[in-house]
Amino acid sequence: RIVYVNGEYLPEEEAKVSVFDRGFLFADGVYEVTSVLGGKLIDFAGHEARLRRSLNELSMPEPAAMGELLEIHRELVARNEIDEGLVYLQVTRGAPADRDFAFPGEEVPPTLVLFTQSKPGLADSPQARKGIKVISVEDIRWGRRDIKTVQLLYPSMGKMMAKKAGADDAWMVEDGFVTEGTSNNAYIVKNGKIITRNLGTEILHGITRAAVLRFAREAQMEVEERPFTIEEAQQADEAFFTSASAFVMPVVEIDGSVLGDGTPGPVSQRLREIYLDESRKVAV
Ligand code: PMP
Repeated sequence: RIVYVNGEYLPEEEAKVSVFDRGFLFADGVYEVTSVLGGKLIDFAGHEARLRRSLNELSMPEPAAMGELLEIHRELVARNEIDEGLVYLQVTRGAPADRDFAFPGEEVPPTLVLFTQSKPGLADSPQARKGIKVISVEDIRWGRRDIKTVQLLYPSMGKMMAKKAGADDAWMVEDGFVTEGTSNNAYIVKNGKIITRNLGTEILHGITRAAVLRFAREAQMEVEERPFTIEEAQQADEAFFTSASAFVMPVVEIDGSVLGDGTPGPVSQRLREIYLDESRKVAV
């Protein structure tokens, strides 16, 4: 696989980052994941805009190649012959000479790394046809979840707790209300209405969320942005989550409680179809 590191395209074995890199020592970095369908990038502009915002919120310098991100994504997709899969991008606050809590000065350039992951069958996913099971876990992450940082230890632990419980993923709960999934935004459907948590610092502002809500409203579906509890979710007609790498994923079981007849509901399935169709049309 060919990866990108600070201006160079290299075989992955030759790509190196310093042990003093602040991404490694302090989780001082931000990232984006953009999916690829038919060799084209889905929602690229949204991911680029959110990256700029994440960098800005953390006073992290923009990498020199900020203006070439689309070309770099395309080059990696082409060189690695990705038809379906994703491009992962990470920016960290670079590698100063010594480990120090204080941010380094302008002389230390940020580190920019991108790589691809091939995922044949991403769109026509067996999981999406079957639906997935989630458990609830307490949300003990920091308070700025609207910034897409690489501090993913707790979400990883949440995934492991889910696996151990025989489920596929975890929805996190704070003050009695669902915030979001370990790596996705959470939704329920009741009497045809789509309910998902309102934006704020408590959740990541999903790029897929924004697109799906726009398509839902365009299709005259009712949308309500507000917090909901696990109990309300268990009584819902349907549930699903969204993310760049899973698109719209139906949820059929929450903490052991089966939703409806235990198969993906019509609203979830329809939204997945609309999202895939519409996104492919404008993919770059
Ligand atoms: N919330 C969290 C915590 C996430 O990690 C992700 C995916 N990275 C999302 C939501 C979904 O965001 P997007 O649709 O932009 O992938």
